[in-house]
Amino acid sequence: MTLLRTIAEVRDHVKSARDRGLTVGLVPTMGALHEGHGALMRRAREETGYVVVTIFVNPTQFDRTDDFQKYPRELDTDLAFCERLGLDAVFAPDAREMYPGDYQKMPLTSVDVAGLASRFEGEFRPGHFRGVAMVVAKLFNIVAANRAYFGEKDAQQLAVIQKMTADLNFPITIVPVPTVREPDGLAMSSRNQRLTPDQRRVAPLLYQALREAERLIRNGASSTAEIKRAASALMSRNPVFRIQYLDAVDPATFEPLVQIMGAVRVVAAVWLGEVRLIDNVLVDGA
Ligand code: AMP
Repeated sequence: MTLLRTIAEVRDHVKSARDRGLTVGLVPTMGALHEGHGALMRRAREETGYVVVTIFVNPTQFDRTDDFQKYPRELDTDLAFCERLGLDAVFAPDAREMYPGDYQKMPLTSVDVAGLASRFEGEFRPGHFRGVAMVVAKLFNIVAANRAYFGEKDAQQLAVIQKMTADLNFPITIVPVPTVREPDGLAMSSRNQRLTPDQRRVAPLLYQALREAERLIRNGASSTAEIKRAASALMSRNPVFRIQYLDAVDPATFEPLVQIMGAVRVVAAVWLGEVRLIDNVLVDGA
């Protein structure tokens, strides 16, 4: 496995893989790797001949400086993780390689997936999806992969990237990968490390509330207000939870649905102390 630090090195290695007739898979991450990332990597390993994982804590997608500063960084452990999965290359650039100018003084080109990017995560984390879309567009151009792998854990991010890819005609297939959970249901996330033992114990209530919403919908409930009430009540039993949003949305546009008909994604964000967790379930309407 090769550790690549510069864009020029990535281009060289990918070109030589393509010259050898290999298809290229891309798995963008911010590191602090866990089995959620592992699922994306395994899938990429199965489906493509040359797998590039990127590890970059992208400053432009953080809306809070403390979240950026406290985001776990553990490159050596991450490299060992990728090595064990038999991947080909890790691209771990520093911020200057990705953003050479002073982007605070000289604003960047912006990739704005209008509407979709301003709801929910976009509303509560202003600028977040502009940062995500920008860095993913850059990685698509740097790595020139055939397939890129994204988790359903971040369903709105996935929708933003699918729309950006279609609208801008990136020649790449986006592969969604189902959410990987801890045995108690908590979706794996690098931020889980920052939960206190008490917070960690109650954290699975988030997924339980989403499952309750799913159960109601499958049993024929169609009023979002009623579903929200029941699912929120479940979490509110525990005073540590501060619900930021919980809603039923159109899976492609993330528009909130008042009445539920057909496929719906139930999405939620909560605060547990200083840690913000998000999760979602897709109810296919079948
Ligand atoms: P991150 O490092 O948090 O930016 O995540 C990198 C990629 O891994 C994104 O496509 C995430 O959606 C995906 N991911 C993170 N956690 C999980 C999980 N628990 N299950 C599946 N995919 C995940």
